[in-house]
Amino acid sequence: MTARILVVDDVPANVKLLEVRLLAEYFDVLTATNGPDAIETCENGKVDVVLLDVMMPDMDGFEVCRRLKSDPATSHIPVVMITALDQVSDRVRGLEAGADDFLTKPVNDLQLMTRVKSLVRLKMLTDELRLRASTTRNIGIEELLSRRQPAEEPTPKVLLIDERTQSSERIRKMLRHAADLDVAADPHAGFFQAAEAPYECVIVSTGFADYDPLRLCSQLRSLDRTRFLPIILLAEIGEEERVIRGLELGINDYLTRPIDPHELTARLRTQVKRKRYNDQLRASVTQTIEMAVTDGLTGLHNRRYLDSHLQTLFDRAVGRRRPLSVMITDLDRFKSINDTFGHDGGDDVLREFAQRLRKNVRGIDLACRFGGEEFVVVMPDTEAQVAEKVAERIRAEIARAPFAVGHDGQTVEVTVSVGVSSLRRGTDTVEALMKRADVALYEAKSGGRNRVVAKAA
Ligand code: GH3
Ligand code: MG
Ligand code: MG
Repeated sequence: MTARILVVDDVPANVKLLEVRLLAEYFDVLTATNGPDAIETCENGKVDVVLLDVMMPDMDGFEVCRRLKSDPATSHIPVVMITALDQVSDRVRGLEAGADDFLTKPVNDLQLMTRVKSLVRLKMLTDELRLRASTTRNIGIEELLSRRQPAEEPTPKVLLIDERTQSSERIRKMLRHAADLDVAADPHAGFFQAAEAPYECVIVSTGFADYDPLRLCSQLRSLDRTRFLPIILLAEIGEEERVIRGLELGINDYLTRPIDPHELTARLRTQVKRKRYNDQLRASVTQTIEMAVTDGLTGLHNRRYLDSHLQTLFDRAVGRRRPLSVMITDLDRFKSINDTFGHDGGDDVLREFAQRLRKNVRGIDLACRFGGEEFVVVMPDTEAQVAEKVAERIRAEIARAPFAVGHDGQTVEVTVSVGVSSLRRGTDTVEALMKRADVALYEAKSGGRNRVVAKAA
Protein backbone atom coordinates (compact mmCIF):
# COMPACT_ATOMS: atom_id res chain seq x y z
CA MET A 1 0.00 0.00 0.00
CA THR A 2 1.58 3.28 -1.03
CA ALA A 3 0.15 6.51 0.23
CA ARG A 4 1.26 10.06 0.89
CA ILE A 5 1.48 11.04 4.55
CA LEU A 6 1.87 14.62 5.71
CA VAL A 7 3.73 14.97 9.03
CA VAL A 8 3.13 18.26 10.85
CA ASP A 9 5.17 19.21 13.92
CA ASP A 10 6.93 22.42 14.94
CA VAL A 11 9.89 20.44 16.31
CA PRO A 12 12.08 19.27 13.38
CA ALA A 13 13.43 16.31 15.35
CA ASN A 14 9.88 14.96 15.85
CA VAL A 15 9.17 15.34 12.15
CA LYS A 16 12.35 13.45 11.31
CA LEU A 17 11.50 10.63 13.72
CA LEU A 18 8.10 9.95 12.14
CA GLU A 19 9.41 10.50 8.63
CA VAL A 20 12.09 7.83 8.99
CA ARG A 21 9.62 5.29 10.32
CA LEU A 22 7.08 5.97 7.60
CA LEU A 23 9.71 5.89 4.85
CA ALA A 24 10.81 2.49 6.14
CA GLU A 25 7.27 1.26 5.39
CA TYR A 26 7.49 2.75 1.88
CA PHE A 27 5.07 5.59 2.43
CA ASP A 28 5.64 8.90 0.63
CA VAL A 29 6.25 11.55 3.25
CA LEU A 30 5.62 15.29 3.10
CA THR A 31 6.43 17.56 6.03
CA ALA A 32 5.35 20.90 7.46
CA THR A 33 6.44 22.73 10.60
CA ASN A 34 3.42 25.00 11.06
CA GLY A 35 -0.33 25.06 10.55
CA PRO A 36 -0.66 27.37 7.53
CA ASP A 37 1.96 25.38 5.58
CA ALA A 38 0.17 22.16 6.43
CA ILE A 39 -3.16 23.51 5.18
CA GLU A 40 -1.57 24.75 1.97
CA THR A 41 0.02 21.36 1.33
CA CYS A 42 -3.33 19.66 1.83
CA GLU A 43 -5.03 22.05 -0.58
CA ASN A 44 -2.44 21.60 -3.28
CA GLY A 45 -1.03 18.14 -2.91
CA LYS A 46 -2.37 14.67 -2.96
CA VAL A 47 -2.32 13.98 0.77
CA ASP A 48 -3.82 10.70 2.03
CA VAL A 49 -3.35 11.04 5.78
CA VAL A 50 -2.23 13.92 8.03
CA LEU A 51 -0.28 13.25 11.23
CA LEU A 52 -0.83 16.43 13.19
CA ASP A 53 0.93 17.63 16.33
CA VAL A 54 -1.45 19.33 18.75
CA MET A 55 0.92 21.75 20.41
CA MET A 56 2.30 24.24 17.95
CA PRO A 57 2.85 27.99 18.35
CA ASP A 58 0.46 30.44 16.60
CA MET A 59 -2.00 27.99 15.08
CA ASP A 60 -2.38 24.84 17.16
CA GLY A 61 -3.35 21.40 15.87
CA PHE A 62 -7.02 21.75 16.83
CA GLU A 63 -7.35 24.86 14.69
CA VAL A 64 -5.52 23.26 11.76
CA CYS A 65 -7.84 20.27 12.00
CA ARG A 66 -10.94 22.43 12.22
CA ARG A 67 -9.92 24.34 9.10
CA LEU A 68 -9.10 21.20 7.14
CA LYS A 69 -12.41 19.64 8.10
CA SER A 70 -14.51 22.69 7.25
CA ASP A 71 -13.09 23.07 3.73
CA PRO A 72 -14.85 20.74 1.25
CA ALA A 73 -11.59 20.44 -0.69
CA THR A 74 -9.76 18.90 2.28
CA SER A 75 -12.48 17.63 4.63
CA HIS A 76 -12.19 14.04 3.41
CA ILE A 77 -8.50 13.72 4.33
CA PRO A 78 -8.12 11.69 7.53
CA VAL A 79 -6.37 13.56 10.35
CA VAL A 80 -4.53 11.79 13.16
CA MET A 81 -3.83 14.05 16.13
CA ILE A 82 -0.62 13.49 18.03
CA THR A 83 -0.98 14.54 21.64
CA ALA A 84 1.94 14.94 23.98
CA LEU A 85 0.15 13.49 26.97
CA ASP A 86 -2.40 10.78 27.16
CA GLN A 87 -5.01 13.37 27.96
CA VAL A 88 -8.62 12.47 27.41
CA SER A 89 -9.62 16.13 27.25
CA ASP A 90 -7.24 16.67 24.32
CA ARG A 91 -8.67 13.67 22.52
CA VAL A 92 -12.18 14.93 23.00
CA ARG A 93 -11.24 18.41 21.78
CA GLY A 94 -9.57 16.84 18.78
CA LEU A 95 -12.56 14.70 17.90
CA GLU A 96 -14.74 17.73 18.24
CA ALA A 97 -12.46 19.50 15.76
CA GLY A 98 -13.11 16.57 13.42
CA ALA A 99 -9.96 14.46 13.95
CA ASP A 100 -10.26 10.87 12.81
CA ASP A 101 -7.81 9.36 15.23
CA PHE A 102 -5.18 9.84 17.92
CA LEU A 103 -1.69 8.82 18.78
CA THR A 104 0.17 9.79 21.92
CA LYS A 105 3.81 10.69 22.19
CA PRO A 106 6.06 8.78 22.31
CA VAL A 107 4.37 7.17 19.33
CA ASN A 108 4.09 3.40 19.50
CA ASP A 109 5.40 1.95 16.24
CA LEU A 110 2.79 -0.75 15.69
CA GLN A 111 -0.05 1.59 16.56
CA LEU A 112 1.30 4.17 14.16
CA MET A 113 1.45 1.71 11.28
CA THR A 114 -1.88 0.01 11.92
CA ARG A 115 -3.77 3.25 12.32
CA VAL A 116 -2.18 4.87 9.32
CA LYS A 117 -2.83 1.82 7.18
CA SER A 118 -6.43 1.51 8.24
CA LEU A 119 -7.05 5.20 7.53
CA VAL A 120 -5.36 4.92 4.15
CA ARG A 121 -7.70 2.05 3.30
CA LEU A 122 -10.73 4.12 4.20
CA LYS A 123 -9.36 7.10 2.29
CA MET A 124 -8.96 4.97 -0.82
CA LEU A 125 -12.59 3.92 -0.66
CA THR A 126 -13.67 7.52 -0.26
CA ASP A 127 -11.44 8.65 -3.13
CA GLU A 128 -12.89 5.99 -5.37
CA LEU A 129 -16.41 7.15 -4.57
CA ARG A 130 -15.51 10.81 -5.04
CA LEU A 131 -13.92 10.04 -8.37
CA ARG A 132 -16.90 8.07 -9.64
CA ALA A 133 -19.31 10.70 -8.41
CA SER A 134 -17.42 13.61 -9.91
CA THR A 135 -16.89 12.07 -13.34
CA THR A 136 -20.59 12.51 -13.87
CA ARG A 137 -21.58 16.13 -13.63
CA ASN A 138 -24.74 17.72 -12.23
CA ILE A 139 -24.65 16.16 -8.80
CA GLY A 140 -24.15 18.33 -5.77
CA ILE A 141 -20.92 16.71 -4.70
CA GLU A 142 -19.41 19.77 -3.07
CA GLU A 143 -22.63 20.44 -1.25
CA LEU A 144 -22.63 16.83 -0.12
CA LEU A 145 -19.08 17.01 1.15
CA SER A 146 -19.56 20.23 3.03
CA ARG A 147 -22.62 18.95 4.85
CA ARG A 148 -21.15 18.72 8.32
CA GLN A 149 -23.65 19.79 10.92
CA PRO A 150 -23.82 17.16 13.61
CA ALA A 151 -26.45 19.20 15.46
CA GLU A 152 -29.01 18.42 12.77
CA GLU A 153 -28.04 14.79 12.35
CA PRO A 154 -30.54 12.22 13.64
CA THR A 155 -29.56 10.07 16.62
CA PRO A 156 -27.70 7.03 15.32
CA LYS A 157 -29.00 3.51 15.83
CA VAL A 158 -26.24 1.54 17.54
CA LEU A 159 -25.85 -2.08 18.60
CA LEU A 160 -23.75 -3.05 21.59
CA ILE A 161 -22.66 -6.68 21.78
CA ASP A 162 -21.55 -7.28 25.34
CA GLU A 163 -22.05 -10.33 27.52
CA ARG A 164 -21.48 -8.62 30.84
CA THR A 165 -24.55 -6.84 32.13
CA GLN A 166 -22.64 -4.47 34.38
CA SER A 167 -20.55 -3.22 31.52
CA SER A 168 -23.43 -2.93 29.07
CA GLU A 169 -25.48 -0.99 31.61
CA ARG A 170 -22.61 1.46 32.11
CA ILE A 171 -22.30 1.99 28.39
CA ARG A 172 -26.01 2.38 27.99
CA LYS A 173 -25.87 5.24 30.51
CA MET A 174 -22.90 6.84 28.77
CA LEU A 175 -24.67 6.84 25.41
CA ARG A 176 -28.19 7.68 26.56
CA HIS A 177 -28.12 11.02 24.73
CA ALA A 178 -25.78 10.04 21.92
CA ALA A 179 -27.34 6.90 20.52
CA ASP A 180 -30.47 4.83 20.14
CA LEU A 181 -28.84 1.77 21.68
CA ASP A 182 -29.79 -1.90 21.49
CA VAL A 183 -27.86 -4.46 23.49
CA ALA A 184 -27.20 -8.08 22.57
CA ALA A 185 -25.63 -10.26 25.23
CA ASP A 186 -25.05 -13.27 23.04
CA PRO A 187 -22.46 -12.87 20.25
CA HIS A 188 -24.28 -15.17 17.80
CA ALA A 189 -27.59 -13.43 18.32
CA GLY A 190 -25.77 -10.08 18.13
CA PHE A 191 -24.31 -10.97 14.77
CA PHE A 192 -27.72 -11.73 13.28
CA GLN A 193 -29.26 -8.71 14.90
CA ALA A 194 -26.56 -6.52 13.30
CA ALA A 195 -27.49 -7.91 9.91
CA GLU A 196 -31.23 -7.49 10.38
CA ALA A 197 -31.66 -3.87 11.48
CA PRO A 198 -30.30 -0.65 9.96
CA TYR A 199 -27.57 0.00 12.54
CA GLU A 200 -25.01 2.70 11.94
CA CYS A 201 -22.37 1.34 14.27
CA VAL A 202 -21.67 -1.82 16.25
CA ILE A 203 -19.73 -1.74 19.50
CA VAL A 204 -18.16 -5.08 20.37
CA SER A 205 -16.82 -5.83 23.80
CA THR A 206 -13.87 -8.22 24.11
CA GLY A 207 -15.08 -9.64 27.39
CA PHE A 208 -16.84 -12.85 26.26
CA ALA A 209 -16.30 -15.84 28.53
CA ASP A 210 -16.35 -18.34 25.72
CA TYR A 211 -16.15 -16.58 22.37
CA ASP A 212 -13.50 -14.86 20.30
CA PRO A 213 -14.65 -11.26 19.69
CA LEU A 214 -12.45 -11.02 16.59
CA ARG A 215 -14.36 -13.90 15.01
CA LEU A 216 -17.48 -11.78 15.40
CA CYS A 217 -15.72 -8.79 13.82
CA SER A 218 -14.49 -10.80 10.89
CA GLN A 219 -17.96 -12.27 10.32
CA LEU A 220 -19.43 -8.78 10.31
CA ARG A 221 -16.84 -7.73 7.76
CA SER A 222 -17.50 -10.65 5.43
CA LEU A 223 -21.29 -10.43 5.38
CA ASP A 224 -22.56 -8.23 2.57
CA ARG A 225 -25.14 -6.40 4.63
CA THR A 226 -22.72 -5.45 7.39
CA ARG A 227 -19.60 -4.90 5.32
CA PHE A 228 -19.74 -1.11 5.65
CA LEU A 229 -20.97 -1.07 9.23
CA PRO A 230 -18.41 0.62 11.51
CA ILE A 231 -17.14 -1.55 14.35
CA ILE A 232 -15.72 -0.14 17.56
CA LEU A 233 -13.94 -2.61 19.82
CA LEU A 234 -13.92 -2.17 23.60
CA ALA A 235 -10.68 -3.74 24.79
CA GLU A 236 -9.06 -4.38 28.13
CA ILE A 237 -5.68 -2.96 29.08
CA GLY A 238 -3.00 -5.33 27.82
CA GLU A 239 -5.01 -6.43 24.80
CA GLU A 240 -2.91 -4.46 22.35
CA GLU A 241 -2.11 -7.48 20.21
CA ARG A 242 -5.78 -8.28 19.88
CA VAL A 243 -6.61 -4.69 18.95
CA ILE A 244 -3.95 -4.71 16.25
CA ARG A 245 -5.30 -7.96 14.81
CA GLY A 246 -8.77 -6.42 14.94
CA LEU A 247 -7.63 -3.36 13.01
CA GLU A 248 -6.12 -5.65 10.40
CA LEU A 249 -9.47 -7.43 10.15
CA GLY A 250 -11.11 -4.10 9.47
CA ILE A 251 -12.51 -2.83 12.77
CA ASN A 252 -12.70 0.94 12.59
CA ASP A 253 -11.76 2.05 16.07
CA TYR A 254 -11.19 0.87 19.61
CA LEU A 255 -11.20 2.13 23.18
CA THR A 256 -9.40 0.69 26.15
CA ARG A 257 -11.16 0.24 29.47
CA PRO A 258 -11.85 2.11 31.70
CA ILE A 259 -13.94 3.88 29.11
CA ASP A 260 -14.26 7.64 29.16
CA PRO A 261 -17.80 8.66 28.25
CA HIS A 262 -16.71 11.74 26.28
CA GLU A 263 -14.24 9.78 24.28
CA LEU A 264 -16.72 7.00 23.55
CA THR A 265 -19.34 9.53 22.46
CA ALA A 266 -16.90 11.44 20.28
CA ARG A 267 -15.44 8.34 18.63
CA LEU A 268 -18.91 6.98 17.96
CA ARG A 269 -19.89 10.26 16.39
CA THR A 270 -16.84 10.19 14.12
CA GLN A 271 -17.66 6.69 12.91
CA VAL A 272 -21.30 7.50 12.27
CA LYS A 273 -20.37 10.68 10.43
CA ARG A 274 -18.00 8.78 8.20
CA LYS A 275 -20.54 6.06 7.51
CA ARG A 276 -23.24 8.56 6.60
CA TYR A 277 -20.83 10.39 4.34
CA ASN A 278 -19.84 7.22 2.50
CA ASP A 279 -23.45 6.01 2.30
CA GLN A 280 -24.49 9.29 0.71
CA LEU A 281 -21.69 9.11 -1.78
CA ARG A 282 -22.53 5.55 -2.65
CA ALA A 283 -26.20 6.40 -3.10
CA SER A 284 -25.47 9.43 -5.25
CA VAL A 285 -23.09 7.41 -7.41
CA THR A 286 -25.79 4.78 -7.93
CA GLN A 287 -28.36 7.44 -8.69
CA THR A 288 -26.05 9.21 -11.10
CA ILE A 289 -25.28 6.00 -12.91
CA GLU A 290 -28.99 5.29 -13.23
CA MET A 291 -29.67 8.79 -14.47
CA ALA A 292 -26.90 8.51 -17.01
CA VAL A 293 -28.43 5.47 -18.68
CA THR A 294 -32.12 6.31 -18.33
CA ASP A 295 -34.32 8.41 -20.58
CA GLY A 296 -35.95 11.02 -18.38
CA LEU A 297 -39.22 11.25 -20.28
CA THR A 298 -40.12 7.58 -20.58
CA GLY A 299 -38.00 5.83 -17.94
CA LEU A 300 -36.69 3.45 -20.59
CA HIS A 301 -32.98 3.02 -21.14
CA ASN A 302 -31.45 5.72 -23.30
CA ARG A 303 -29.31 5.59 -26.39
CA ARG A 304 -26.07 5.75 -24.43
CA TYR A 305 -27.02 2.58 -22.65
CA LEU A 306 -28.03 0.89 -25.89
CA ASP A 307 -24.75 1.84 -27.53
CA SER A 308 -22.73 0.27 -24.75
CA HIS A 309 -24.93 -2.76 -24.13
CA LEU A 310 -25.93 -3.86 -27.61
CA GLN A 311 -22.38 -4.94 -28.43
CA THR A 312 -22.34 -7.12 -25.32
CA LEU A 313 -25.64 -8.79 -26.24
CA PHE A 314 -24.41 -9.20 -29.81
CA ASP A 315 -21.12 -10.83 -28.75
CA ARG A 316 -22.93 -13.12 -26.36
CA ALA A 317 -25.34 -14.27 -29.09
CA VAL A 318 -22.48 -14.93 -31.51
CA GLY A 319 -20.44 -16.71 -28.83
CA ARG A 320 -23.31 -18.99 -27.83
CA ARG A 321 -24.62 -19.44 -31.37
CA ARG A 322 -27.96 -18.10 -30.29
CA PRO A 323 -30.33 -15.95 -32.37
CA LEU A 324 -30.73 -12.20 -31.76
CA SER A 325 -33.15 -9.71 -33.27
CA VAL A 326 -33.67 -5.96 -33.09
CA MET A 327 -36.53 -3.71 -34.03
CA ILE A 328 -36.59 0.02 -34.63
CA THR A 329 -39.93 1.74 -34.23
CA ASP A 330 -40.81 5.23 -35.42
CA LEU A 331 -44.12 6.95 -34.74
CA ASP A 332 -46.01 7.95 -37.86
CA ARG A 333 -46.60 11.62 -38.60
CA PHE A 334 -45.58 12.49 -35.09
CA LYS A 335 -44.79 16.03 -36.12
CA SER A 336 -48.47 16.67 -36.75
CA ILE A 337 -49.33 15.41 -33.23
CA ASN A 338 -46.93 18.02 -31.88
CA ASP A 339 -48.41 20.61 -34.18
CA THR A 340 -51.95 19.83 -33.03
CA PHE A 341 -51.46 19.25 -29.30
CA GLY A 342 -48.24 21.08 -28.59
CA HIS A 343 -44.96 19.65 -27.39
CA ASP A 344 -46.43 18.56 -24.03
CA GLY A 345 -49.17 16.66 -25.81
CA GLY A 346 -46.48 14.99 -27.90
CA ASP A 347 -44.64 14.05 -24.71
CA ASP A 348 -47.81 12.41 -23.34
CA VAL A 349 -47.95 10.27 -26.45
CA LEU A 350 -44.28 9.29 -26.11
CA ARG A 351 -44.79 8.23 -22.47
CA GLU A 352 -47.86 6.19 -23.29
CA PHE A 353 -46.08 4.63 -26.25
CA ALA A 354 -43.18 3.61 -24.00
CA GLN A 355 -45.62 1.98 -21.58
CA ARG A 356 -47.36 -0.02 -24.27
CA LEU A 357 -44.00 -1.01 -25.70
CA ARG A 358 -42.72 -2.21 -22.35
CA LYS A 359 -45.87 -4.26 -21.70
CA ASN A 360 -45.46 -6.08 -24.97
CA VAL A 361 -41.87 -7.21 -24.70
CA ARG A 362 -40.25 -9.72 -22.35
CA GLY A 363 -38.24 -8.79 -19.28
CA ILE A 364 -34.98 -9.82 -20.93
CA ASP A 365 -35.66 -7.69 -24.00
CA LEU A 366 -33.88 -4.36 -23.92
CA ALA A 367 -36.24 -1.48 -24.76
CA CYS A 368 -34.62 1.92 -25.31
CA ARG A 369 -35.57 5.34 -26.47
CA PHE A 370 -33.25 5.79 -29.39
CA GLY A 371 -34.03 9.50 -29.75
CA GLY A 372 -37.04 11.68 -30.57
CA GLU A 373 -39.96 9.37 -31.44
CA GLU A 374 -37.75 6.42 -32.31
CA PHE A 375 -37.41 3.41 -30.04
CA VAL A 376 -35.27 0.29 -30.27
CA VAL A 377 -35.94 -3.13 -28.79
CA VAL A 378 -33.14 -5.69 -28.66
CA MET A 379 -34.43 -9.24 -28.32
CA PRO A 380 -31.91 -11.87 -27.22
CA ASP A 381 -32.62 -15.52 -28.09
CA THR A 382 -35.22 -14.47 -30.64
CA GLU A 383 -35.47 -15.81 -34.19
CA ALA A 384 -36.47 -13.53 -37.06
CA GLN A 385 -39.99 -14.99 -37.42
CA VAL A 386 -40.71 -14.55 -33.71
CA ALA A 387 -39.33 -10.99 -33.74
CA GLU A 388 -41.59 -10.14 -36.64
CA LYS A 389 -44.60 -11.41 -34.67
CA VAL A 390 -43.60 -9.34 -31.65
CA ALA A 391 -43.25 -6.27 -33.88
CA GLU A 392 -46.68 -6.91 -35.37
CA ARG A 393 -48.18 -7.28 -31.88
CA ILE A 394 -46.72 -3.91 -30.90
CA ARG A 395 -47.94 -2.24 -34.08
CA ALA A 396 -51.45 -3.57 -33.47
CA GLU A 397 -51.35 -2.57 -29.79
CA ILE A 398 -50.52 1.03 -30.74
CA ALA A 399 -53.25 1.27 -33.39
CA ARG A 400 -55.81 -0.58 -31.21
CA ALA A 401 -56.85 2.31 -28.98
CA PRO A 402 -56.29 6.06 -29.23
CA PHE A 403 -53.84 7.82 -26.89
CA ALA A 404 -54.89 10.29 -24.21
CA VAL A 405 -53.32 13.74 -24.48
CA GLY A 406 -53.44 16.52 -21.91
CA HIS A 407 -55.96 16.62 -19.06
CA ASP A 408 -59.12 17.50 -21.00
CA GLY A 409 -59.92 13.97 -22.11
CA GLN A 410 -58.66 14.56 -25.63
CA THR A 411 -57.36 11.59 -27.57
CA VAL A 412 -55.41 11.00 -30.74
CA GLU A 413 -55.02 8.05 -33.06
CA VAL A 414 -51.40 6.96 -33.22
CA THR A 415 -49.71 4.47 -35.52
CA VAL A 416 -46.19 3.19 -35.69
CA SER A 417 -43.89 1.77 -38.36
CA VAL A 418 -41.41 -0.93 -37.43
CA GLY A 419 -38.25 -2.32 -39.03
CA VAL A 420 -36.92 -5.68 -37.87
CA SER A 421 -33.59 -7.37 -38.48
CA SER A 422 -31.90 -10.48 -37.12
CA LEU A 423 -28.37 -11.72 -36.57
CA ARG A 424 -26.82 -13.37 -39.60
CA ARG A 425 -24.54 -16.37 -39.31
CA GLY A 426 -21.04 -15.67 -40.50
CA THR A 427 -19.72 -12.13 -40.62
CA ASP A 428 -22.32 -9.84 -39.12
CA THR A 429 -21.71 -6.69 -37.07
CA VAL A 430 -23.78 -4.53 -34.75
CA GLU A 431 -23.63 -1.69 -37.26
CA ALA A 432 -24.83 -3.90 -40.14
CA LEU A 433 -27.62 -5.35 -37.98
CA MET A 434 -28.85 -1.88 -37.05
CA LYS A 435 -28.51 -0.68 -40.62
CA ARG A 436 -30.74 -3.50 -41.89
CA ALA A 437 -33.40 -2.62 -39.30
CA ASP A 438 -33.19 1.01 -40.37
CA VAL A 439 -33.57 0.13 -44.06
CA ALA A 440 -36.57 -2.05 -43.14
CA LEU A 441 -38.10 0.84 -41.22
CA TYR A 442 -37.64 3.12 -44.21
CA GLU A 443 -39.46 0.56 -46.39
CA ALA A 444 -42.29 0.42 -43.86
CA LYS A 445 -42.60 4.20 -44.08
CA SER A 446 -42.50 4.39 -47.84
CA GLY A 447 -44.84 1.38 -48.09
CA GLY A 448 -47.60 3.40 -46.40
CA ARG A 449 -46.74 3.47 -42.62
CA ASN A 450 -48.54 1.57 -39.80
CA ARG A 451 -46.76 -1.61 -40.84
CA VAL A 452 -43.87 -3.96 -40.04
CA VAL A 453 -41.08 -4.80 -42.48
CA ALA A 454 -38.61 -7.54 -41.56
CA LYS A 455 -35.28 -8.12 -43.25
CA ALA A 456 -34.97 -11.87 -43.51
CA ALA A 457 -31.71 -13.06 -41.98
P1 GH3 B 1 -42.82 10.01 -40.18
O1 GH3 B 1 -44.10 9.31 -40.25
O2 GH3 B 1 -42.13 10.11 -41.49
O3 GH3 B 1 -41.93 9.43 -39.13
O4 GH3 B 1 -43.18 11.51 -39.75
P2 GH3 B 1 -42.80 12.24 -38.41
O5 GH3 B 1 -43.54 13.51 -38.37
O6 GH3 B 1 -43.01 11.33 -37.26
O7 GH3 B 1 -41.25 12.41 -38.58
P3 GH3 B 1 -40.24 13.55 -38.29
O8 GH3 B 1 -38.92 12.87 -38.03
O9 GH3 B 1 -40.26 14.56 -39.38
O10 GH3 B 1 -40.72 14.26 -36.97
C1 GH3 B 1 -40.42 13.79 -35.71
C2 GH3 B 1 -40.83 14.84 -34.72
O11 GH3 B 1 -40.64 14.41 -33.40
C3 GH3 B 1 -40.06 16.11 -34.86
C4 GH3 B 1 -39.72 16.51 -33.45
O12 GH3 B 1 -40.10 17.84 -33.16
C5 GH3 B 1 -40.51 15.57 -32.61
N1 GH3 B 1 -39.84 15.22 -31.37
C6 GH3 B 1 -38.59 14.76 -31.21
N2 GH3 B 1 -38.33 14.57 -29.88
C7 GH3 B 1 -39.45 14.93 -29.19
C8 GH3 B 1 -39.81 14.97 -27.81
O13 GH3 B 1 -39.04 14.62 -26.92
N3 GH3 B 1 -41.04 15.40 -27.49
C9 GH3 B 1 -41.92 15.79 -28.45
N4 GH3 B 1 -43.12 16.20 -28.04
N5 GH3 B 1 -41.62 15.79 -29.75
C10 GH3 B 1 -40.41 15.35 -30.14
MG1 MG C 1 -38.32 10.08 -36.82
MG1 MG D 1 -41.86 9.58 -37.06
